[in-house]
Amino acid sequence: MSEPFAAPVVIPNPSHPRVIVVGGGLAGLAAALACADGGARVSLLEARPRLGGATFSFQREGLWVDNGQHVFLRCCTAYRRFLSRIGADGKTVLQDRMSIPVVSSDGRRGMLRRNRLPAPLHLAGTLATYPFLGPADRLRTARAALALARLDPLDPSLDGRTFGQWLAEHRQSHAAIDSLWNLIALPTLNLPADQASLALAVKVFRTGLLSHRDAADVGYAAVPLSEVHAAPAARALARAGAAVHLRTTARRVERLTADALEVSTEDGRLEGRAAILALPHDRVRDVIPAEALADPEAPSRLGVSPIVNVHVVYDRPVMDVPFVAGLGSPVQWVFDRTGPSGLDRGQYLAISLSGADREIQERAEDLRARFLPALEALFPAARAATVERFFVTREHAATFRQTPGTRALRPGPRTRIPGLYLAGAWTDTGWPATMEGAVRSGLAAAREALADLGRTRPLPQAVPA
Ligand SMILES: Cc1cc2nc3c(=O)[nH]c(=O)nc-3n(C[C@H](O)[C@H](O)[C@H](O)COP(=O)(O)OP(=O)(O)OC[C@H]3O[C@@H](n4cnc5c(N)ncnc54)[C@H](O)[C@@H]3O)c2cc1C
Repeated sequence: MSEPFAAPVVIPNPSHPRVIVVGGGLAGLAAALACADGGARVSLLEARPRLGGATFSFQREGLWVDNGQHVFLRCCTAYRRFLSRIGADGKTVLQDRMSIPVVSSDGRRGMLRRNRLPAPLHLAGTLATYPFLGPADRLRTARAALALARLDPLDPSLDGRTFGQWLAEHRQSHAAIDSLWNLIALPTLNLPADQASLALAVKVFRTGLLSHRDAADVGYAAVPLSEVHAAPAARALARAGAAVHLRTTARRVERLTADALEVSTEDGRLEGRAAILALPHDRVRDVIPAEALADPEAPSRLGVSPIVNVHVVYDRPVMDVPFVAGLGSPVQWVFDRTGPSGLDRGQYLAISLSGADREIQERAEDLRARFLPALEALFPAARAATVERFFVTREHAATFRQTPGTRALRPGPRTRIPGLYLAGAWTDTGWPATMEGAVRSGLAAAREALADLGRTRPLPQAVPA
């Protein structure tokens, strides 16, 4: 990785316009690569000493730990293409057929599994046999799913109320909400149904579950997260001639002339024809000129929603599947991270807790007192096992708070300043704040920048319109 403003591995054509990308999360990485592929000279500035943004790994006492379990679905096409572009698609697992084991604290087990029929019939079989719903709930759930599939996520009125209100109107019981709707809504929207925007829920359920039979096949990293994103992206950027400047915090971006923007950092100033700000939403206000946005306060009004991961290493295997969703338990989803972590004995489980307003405040010893018995209830083998390590990772601002009313606060890629663009999972992608949304936002900003710069070379990675 280059030092601030050092030369890239491949020297790009100096006559090509320079694009400065600020932020090295998935949005910035996707934007930088697309701009380089489109023939721009790219300089990527990242404040931290590493790339990957909200997706990263670190070492703890010899164990590779992800900051938080990350999952994608087969319908995350831009993210999957990004993985291919950086040569990392072999570093993830993607199910051949959606298959989600569900375990309840009273010992019952179920499976949400699609069949090979076209959508929405691909879920009919699993719904008919799902043990956590009675016959009346199954029927009402199927009706609600069909009604949901008819809603248009772009209908502005849907962002005026919560998914929970809609579910109540469609006579969904607490059992159906807990055992089915929230099982999907909570991890994808990072809020429970009673708080989440109906518009975003419709996007998730329509795109992920109800449109194509294979859309919800589940994928996750087979190696530490930084090996899926940061390391391969750094290599791809170097090969594409982009310069990456780590430990470089952008302070301010300003338009100098009709043709030039300047990004100032602690180390100096960098001039480019265009700049893409791919920053977290709560950081944009510090860097962007107020006149760039119709409502300069909009990004910070998006709020934040936390994710907490509880990490437990047992001296022996206690869970016999790669991941499980928990019911009637504080455990939402739990993943076996033994292989990626490099653990050579025992089993490493990572419990992923979305919408974790309670857990973000809870002391590690209190989480331990709550979650170890909860794991024992889900996995009886844990009762005889010894806990060798227990620790917690917390992300206070994992995503913006995806409540009703947020659609209007998410700007598109263009700002009011020519040559200055926005990216980030929080921008108006139509998707919730996810890896897919981040990549799409980066590609959308790159597409606008390249078009304005007159670079019409087709991009190797398809850019969603
Ligand atoms: C614990 C956790 C679990 C998650 N689970 C999932 C999941 O299962 N599936 C899923 O799809 N999504 C998940 N997400 C969401 C997903 O990770 C994010 O939506 C996505 O990675 C955001 O990418 P981004 O590029 O928009 O922003 P970020 O990743 O936040 O990148 C912004 C970058 O800008 C840098 N920066 C900030 N200020 C400056 C500055 N002044 N100058 C230069 N650089 C700066 C930051 O250091 C950062 O690297 C999860 C997030 C977390 C935190």
